Amino acid sequence: MNSRYTWLNGQMIESSRTTIPLLTSGFHYGIGVFEGIRAYATDRGPAVFRLREHLERFESSARILGFLEVPYSVAELTAATAETIRANGYDECYIRPLLYLGEGGWNLTLDTGKAHVAIAVWQESVYLGHDSPKRGLRANVSSFARSHPGANMTKAKICGNYVNSYLAKTESHRLGFDEAILLDPEGFVAECTGANLFLVRHGKLVTPSSETILEGITRNTVTTFAADLGIPVFEGRVSRDQLYLADEVFVCGTAAEIVGLCEVDGRRVGTGETGPLTRRLQQIYADAVHGRHPRSPEWLEYVGVAAAKGV
Ligand code: PMP
Repeated sequence: MNSRYTWLNGQMIESSRTTIPLLTSGFHYGIGVFEGIRAYATDRGPAVFRLREHLERFESSARILGFLEVPYSVAELTAATAETIRANGYDECYIRPLLYLGEGGWNLTLDTGKAHVAIAVWQESVYLGHDSPKRGLRANVSSFARSHPGANMTKAKICGNYVNSYLAKTESHRLGFDEAILLDPEGFVAECTGANLFLVRHGKLVTPSSETILEGITRNTVTTFAADLGIPVFEGRVSRDQLYLADEVFVCGTAAEIVGLCEVDGRRVGTGETGPLTRRLQQIYADAVHGRHPRSPEWLEYVGVAAAKGV
């Protein structure tokens, strides 16, 4: 996770100097919002996939949490992201913008505090295991439900929301599974701990509707590919047993990319191997992020080459 430079409150500084004081309320109470973005190598140098959409969601997350103003515009954060990648000289990396309550806020209100903004980048970006795209994952339905939309704001990437993900994924790992599937408070399938979920049945794609999930940018990318390919997508309530009947199930997210599930709750999914439509979408996704797809120009933000490994 070591990078040389990090952007913090408008300045590029040595990553080793980005320490946060222990008494920072955002750290104690999970009051921050973040994004998870990836840059990929292309034949025109590093390019960030769907940067605008990620930064717009970053600003939306801050507003949903209740920040009245976000200190930097999408345009400023776009430039800062490119600058951070160039400063570190990376071809490919994971990008983590973070807005957190950096000062004040000890009386549990946002208005007595001040937001700080950082953009960190790092290179190890494999999230669900190196071999997971081919092998497929074993998942179980968690005993922890996804947060009630009246209690937590699931459309925002709020730091504190991820306590829910930690509870579920730690439980699943300790039970020997790779990933947890969370149901919504009414018992319908919502999403995974850091990824959205699709199933394939009779050649159609089905995905839980947006009420209690994070509306993933990869989910949107997959539905766009499906429309391009003429594959129908049904968004609505998904029951747990629909997962058991599916021909294929896959999860998708910026970090996870597209990964098939080979087993849910000890029941084999389809043939037990990553299915044909999942593999097709994985291939199209790989082409899109690396600049080899007709949609790549509208989705890739080219960063330019690293002029010098420094600022
Ligand atoms: N759901 C949750 C809870 C997530 O953390 C993520 C990762 N950001 C996703 C879904 C997928 O979102 P995206 O495709 O935008 O990365």
